[in-house]
Amino acid sequence: MKNCKICSKRLVGRSDKLFCSLKCKNYYHTDLRRKTALVAKDIDKMLHRNRSIIYELLGSKNHFVKIKRVELDKKKFHFNYYTHQNTNKEGRVYNWLYDIGWFEYSTEEMFLLKKY
Ligand SMILES: [Zn+2]
Repeated sequence: MKNCKICSKRLVGRSDKLFCSLKCKNYYHTDLRRKTALVAKDIDKMLHRNRSIIYELLGSKNHFVKIKRVELDKKKFHFNYYTHQNTNKEGRVYNWLYDIGWFEYSTEEMFLLKKY
């Protein structure tokens, strides 16, 4: 016999049931989302901030722009915060912030780009 994951009330009915009621089920999922949101908050803020910096430097019309690395440094861009990476056939690593990203062109130059 199993008990509800939230209130420990004894469960009746289907054997794969985890909660005694919709209320307990909702509580569980709301609590799960709340805990994740709390932990992710600071990193999310950094990712959004980084995206804004690239977006601003790209300008609304450009899909591709070469800049000096120092321009990103000046804006306190955090190079180790990105959403995902991919590597092309030539081994160039693209760092993405959702839909826009950057790659190192040389030690002093960066390319900023938009996915779409
Ligand atoms: Zn319950």
